[in-house]
Amino acid sequence: MRKPVIAGNWKMYKTIAEAVEFVKRLRPLVARVEHCEIVVAPPFTALRAVCDALRGSNIGLAAQDLHWEREGPYTGDVSASMIREAGCTYVIIGHSERRHGHGETDAMVNRKVKAAVAEGLTPIVCVGETLAEREAGKTLEVLARQFEGGLAGLTAQEFSRIMMAYEPVWAIGTGRTATPQLAAESHGELRRLVSLRFGEAAGKQVRILYGGSVKPENIGGLMAEEQIDGALVGGASLAVDSFTAIVNYRL
Ligand code: PEP
Repeated sequence: MRKPVIAGNWKMYKTIAEAVEFVKRLRPLVARVEHCEIVVAPPFTALRAVCDALRGSNIGLAAQDLHWEREGPYTGDVSASMIREAGCTYVIIGHSERRHGHGETDAMVNRKVKAAVAEGLTPIVCVGETLAEREAGKTLEVLARQFEGGLAGLTAQEFSRIMMAYEPVWAIGTGRTATPQLAAESHGELRRLVSLRFGEAAGKQVRILYGGSVKPENIGGLMAEEQIDGALVGGASLAVDSFTAIVNYRL
């Protein structure tokens, strides 16, 4: 049984005060939730304060990125040990906004994944095709390239710490969601790649989240797909009501 995960990626939204206020409101609303893991990913500046506000709750904390080195002359970056010290147990890696906006390559994703795993963090590794790639019939090729490149050199044991997120770039922040069937196809392909590379048990166990304009109105249809193990939510995770409704997709 794969426990679903609903993770909110707040991107560059929310001050420290707004982030703390959000989780103070969220906590009691989801306190009884057991059917899924709940995760929020605030900006770096709010991590420590949100960690304190989440203490004793059933909500996990993620960073949105990390650098692969432990320390060094990397202006603007933070390391795995730094985000762990700030209270994170998860970290999003390879989000398309980093791949496309910051030139992040599969090789960089790979170094970040290894650094996160070595620090005992759970990476949420994002992959997904652009609209042009989908229209050119290259979706599976892109997923295979990102999977092989991003997860190169990991042992099956290291891979067991990892979650993946299928995020078609054309669906992120556009209001255009992949149909549940289309998403399930890509998830099935990723699972097949995991089985080939890390063994059948890994393929059965890996949790693959869907991301791309997930909202309270479409989460039920997505979660009805056997292949979809949760959601990485951007825009709709910024309001307590819509994030809570997504977490409670079963109710
Ligand atoms: C995301 O940021 O990972 C995302 C999927 O954003 P949105 O839900 O806004 O499309």
